[in-house]
Formats: sequence, structure tokens, C-alpha cells
Amino acid sequence: MRNEQPILEVISLEKKFPVYGAFGKIGGTKAYVNAVKNVSLKVYEGETYGLVGESGSGKSTTGRTILGLTEATSGQVLYQGHNLVELSKKELRKFRRDLQMVFQDPFSSLDPRQKIGDLLEEPLIIHRLGEKKERQQKVFQLLKKVGLQPEHYFRYSHELSGGQRQRLGIARALIMNPKIIICDEPVSALDVSIQSQILNILKELQGELKLTLLFITHDISVVRYISDRVGIMYLGTIVEEGMTDDLFARPLHPYTKALFSAVPDFLKKSLKERVILKGEIPSPLNPPSGCLFHTRCPYATERCRNEIPVMREVESEHSVACHLVE
Ligand code: SF4
Repeated sequence: MRNEQPILEVISLEKKFPVYGAFGKIGGTKAYVNAVKNVSLKVYEGETYGLVGESGSGKSTTGRTILGLTEATSGQVLYQGHNLVELSKKELRKFRRDLQMVFQDPFSSLDPRQKIGDLLEEPLIIHRLGEKKERQQKVFQLLKKVGLQPEHYFRYSHELSGGQRQRLGIARALIMNPKIIICDEPVSALDVSIQSQILNILKELQGELKLTLLFITHDISVVRYISDRVGIMYLGTIVEEGMTDDLFARPLHPYTKALFSAVPDFLKKSLKERVILKGEIPSPLNPPSGCLFHTRCPYATERCRNEIPVMREVESEHSVACHLVE
């Protein structure tokens, strides 16, 4: 039975990036790119919330902004009664132990000169947790949990394969006993056979350690496999959200249908109509008026060009932002 109080709540989150002219910052800000726009979502303890969309939809920026790795322009990220967006860096550090991230390429966030044992022990040393022997013990236990060998403790990250590196990325996220992990495309760069191993490890560890996951991906099959609930993102906003089974059984937003239409197996089984996307995702520097999807939507009307559709719950726990679905 789900706890009615979400462990993490995001309310009207917004992230704008300044764009500078030919003279860089000296010339002043030329414009702003609205990478994340009015994103609201709730994540419940122990669940996996999948955030899915094309590249450029703002899903990774949403994840980074929730964690405070990118500063929010406005909005709230509520965790344990605190709005993380308002906290100073020092105050935020107290909560960062509970909220960790697994990156697509863990290598980019790891110092290649450090041995794997040292990389994993480092956060414990920074937070002054345990004596040397306890820390080592914890690292050896964690290596086993993620399917690495004890001898990896003495090796370097560049000696690992892609799948092993992602296991290390997961171990690094787990070392501080977090409550929530934001996984940003953690299997996108891996072969399909390795992808399923990593997804299964995440699922097993989630059950064992009672973790809550926010899982960011562009892969429809992956999000369907791993998520309890799914949010569909387009051009910085969530356009549809629902329980995974409901959403996949009856997608309502034309963009969701278009995304699902691109998966041949799924198309055969569940979709009555095929929606083919026209053109590219528009630049967030110059977003369309009204419904952000109207330039690519086969059902767009005059109203869609002028009026922004609001997110409405149309069935139990199934919300959508589209004039057509009213
Ligand atoms: Fe298409 Fe209009 Fe719905 Fe937007 S509001 S998805 S343009 S039908």
C-alpha cells in the first residue's frame, strides 16, 4: 500500500539558461532558453517514476535541477519538509546524502587517477563516516552487491568494461545509503544484453534497500520495464502522466502516441492509430505559442496554436495536457 505523502514533490519547477551574443558574457544576456518549464511531479517512497522524452525534452535538466546540480530559476523541490531550491549550498549538503545520481557515463564523474576502492571510500571520508576498516568493509560489501569482484577494489575505473563502470556508478551512488536515486539514462550507452543486467541490479537493490528511483530515459521499452508511473516530457514540460500499465494500455496525448508508435512491437499490440511525428523538436530558444506540440501534432487546431493546454486528471491517476482530450 502506497504512502499518501510523496517522498519528493516538485512544484512548478523552472530552469532558464542565459544565451549570450558574439561577445559572450561581456555583451550581456541575449535571450533565455527555457529548458524546464512548469514541471510538477510527485514521487512516492519505494516506487520508480520514469521520465521519458526525446533528447532535448529537458528531462536530464529536470533531474539535475531537482538535485541542485543545476540551480533552479524558480519553483519548489520539497523533501522532508524543506524546499531544496531555497537552501544554501551548505544546508543542501545535509540532504545530498539522501539524494544521489547515477549518470549515463559514470566515467566522466570519476577521477581516473584514483583506485576504485578510493573512489568509493571518498564520500565516506568527506562526511567523516566510520574508521578506515569499517569504510573498507562497506566498500567490499557494496562491490559484491553491484556484481563487482573484491579485486576491483585495487583496480582503476578505466580498466572496467562499460557495464562494470555502470555497476561502479551505482555503487558510488549507494555508498551514502541514499533514499532517492536519480538515474539519468543509466543504460543508454550499453549493449542490450548488459542493459538488462543493470536494470535488474537496480530493481533488486531497490527492493533490498527500499530505494525510490527517478528514472530518466528516452527508451520506451526500458521505461515500461522499470517504472511504476511514467511522466512524458516534451519541450521542457510534462504532457502526460499515469500508472505505467494504464498509460501503455491507453496513451491519450498525441505526443505519447507518437512516441509509442515508434516501437514496432508495442504498436502491433496496443495502439489503434499510428501517430507519425512531423519534423524535429523545436528550439526551446523560440518555442511555439499555445500548445508546445502544435507544430508537429496532426490534430492541431486554431485553439491549439493560441491556448496553452493545462494538465488535467482525466482518469484515476492519469493526467494529460491536450485540448483534444477534454
Ligand atoms: Fe495536439 Fe492540440 Fe492536443 Fe496540442 S493541444 S497535443 S496541438 S491536439
